[in-house]
Amino acid sequence: MLVTGGAGFIGSNFIHYMLAQYPEVEIVNLDKLTYAGSLGNLKTLPASDRYHFVKGDICDEALVSRLLSDFSIDTVVHFAAESHVDRSIIGPGEFVQTNVVGSFVLLEACRKFWQERYQLDVKKCRFHHISTDEVYGTLSKDAAAFSEKTAYAPNSPYSASKAGADHLARAYFHTYGLPVTMTNCSNNYGAFQHDEKFIPTVIRSCLQGKVIPIYGDGSNIRDWLYVQDHCAAIDKVIRLAPAGEVYNVGGDSEVANIDLVKKICGILDDLVPAKRGYAELITYVDDRKGHDWRYAIDFHKINQMLAWSPRVTLLEGLRRTVDFYREKYVAS
Ligand code: NAD
Repeated sequence: MLVTGGAGFIGSNFIHYMLAQYPEVEIVNLDKLTYAGSLGNLKTLPASDRYHFVKGDICDEALVSRLLSDFSIDTVVHFAAESHVDRSIIGPGEFVQTNVVGSFVLLEACRKFWQERYQLDVKKCRFHHISTDEVYGTLSKDAAAFSEKTAYAPNSPYSASKAGADHLARAYFHTYGLPVTMTNCSNNYGAFQHDEKFIPTVIRSCLQGKVIPIYGDGSNIRDWLYVQDHCAAIDKVIRLAPAGEVYNVGGDSEVANIDLVKKICGILDDLVPAKRGYAELITYVDDRKGHDWRYAIDFHKINQMLAWSPRVTLLEGLRRTVDFYREKYVAS
């Protein structure tokens, strides 16, 4: 299996998950180690000849083709991306390069290699593309949640670049018969997420007694998916889903940003009591440009077709996440 972006947040969780779950799986992790990637996320992997790390760029066609051939890759799970919306507003070029061009390079290399090796037999090879609910745009308070049939309406350079990759993945299935599947998931949380993201920022701010910055009035709503539940969903799709299928993956945990922060503050108030409640550190800052108001995921399809549903409740997932970052930020 070739995992791209496996030194990042979700990719590293996925590698831990797959190697623990399947003794026969061998994984090549191709990661450029941008600011977002860290080999530290993988340092607790048991020493194994079933895991190989390659530092490199998914846009490097020669490298990708060589890895496919040298390791006889039959499954690609494609996580590598520029993933931070705020950075995409400041510098969209990298997002187009990695998310659109990089995905194209991977799809094209797989098409050539698997055509020659497997005649693109759906039973012998699989390209799984990881995407986001952000490609669907934004929802009003009472609108129905995003389903797989919702029209694409990306609002940020990040989501537009992910949408571009999704369209290419879809086209490679329809045009060439490349065995592609895709998942569009909501906000993930859990261990190994980069410090700059929302939940790690909230926990760090509390532990360091600094202000907790919240965009706008904090009313924006997100659905939160515990990362290990996401890994289980990807695993099911790779093993069980027919080629060409797309599944939305959600955490069944819609909550306003301000309420999420208050939940985290409450957990920390119990675990590490301070003189004043951590919620007093909440500070509202200028809203993000083009900030989507609400995301919500309808995950009936993956539930009905593949019997997947999220297992970890928001409160339990947040407790585990706080535990992880507490150790990290107290140790650092
Ligand atoms: P991340 O930013 O934590 O990790 C991305 C990884 O990709 C990093 O290790 C980075 O070094 C690597 N990378 C970047 N450019 C590369 C390139 N050109 N070649 C090789 N490697 C490269 O991202 P994440 O949060 O783990 O997200 C993984 C995937 O899931 C992305 O495709 C993202 O769009 C999608 N997604 C994430 C979330 C979320 O909540 N984190 C939600 C929906 C979808």
